[in-house]
Order: sequence, then C-alpha cells, then structure tokens
Amino acid sequence: MIDKSGEWWTGSAFDDLVTYLREVTADSHPAGPVVQSTCECGGRLFTLEADADEGCARRTCTSCGRVAPIADSAEYWDDAEPEAVQCPCGEDAFETGVAIALREDGDVRWITVGVRCVACGVLGAPVDWKIDYSPTDHLLTAA
Ligand SMILES: [Zn+2]
Ligand SMILES: [Zn+2]
Repeated sequence: MIDKSGEWWTGSAFDDLVTYLREVTADSHPAGPVVQSTCECGGRLFTLEADADEGCARRTCTSCGRVAPIADSAEYWDDAEPEAVQCPCGEDAFETGVAIALREDGDVRWITVGVRCVACGVLGAPVDWKIDYSPTDHLLTAA
C-alpha cells in the first residue's frame, strides 16, 4: 500500500514503486513495463548514482559491490557529473526499478528510474531521460 499522507509518498514493497512510477509518468511518458533491478548475485538493494541533467544512472549492489549502468547510461557516463542519490531520511540503499515508456512501434521512448528507500519506504524518481534511436530491445532488460 502506498501511504500519501506524509511529505513524501511511501511504499512497503516493490509493487508500490511500480504504482508510484505509473502515477508520476502518467501525464508525460506513461510507463509500460516496469522492471526491477536485480544484481547477478540475486541482490535487490542498491546505492544509486545519477545525473539528472545528462540523463544517466548506475547502481551498485549492496551485497556484492557489482556496479551496473542502467539502460544505456554507460554511453553517457564519461560526460556525466553523477551524484549519489540519498533518501530524505539519510539512507542510501534502495530497491530500484526502471519504468519504460514505449512508442507505438514498440521502441523505447523514455526511461524513468525509480527508488524505494529500504529504511523508511520513501518513493522517488530521481532521474529520467529520452531515448531517440532504434532498435532499443537491449534496454528492456537493462534495469
Ligand atoms: Zn550483487
Ligand atoms: Zn528513507
């Protein structure tokens, strides 16, 4: 269940982040698939670095330390000035998910990265960016 009563929306499970991402993208880039980030080790908690101007993000697994760019972020990373994403509560470990808006032809149009704080449940969407090339099938699984 999403709790909207406080200053920030909070959720108790990843499904709440999915709902949140559908709501925040509804008026701009309506989310189709929402894919949960999962590390190769099976870990699902990450710290996140993001550059909202450049439009890229990468996650670091809190279990094994493996670093992975989200979607096509590796291509823009060298030009980015990423900052660590931090929850208002001070925590920096999140469940993360990627909301994907699709064009009519099925190509990816927009990427929105969402986070749910493991400590307090606050939901956020710290970075999103446009995809303006094709094909984009590889992005559908690069959460
Ligand atoms: Zn891992
Ligand atoms: Zn928090």
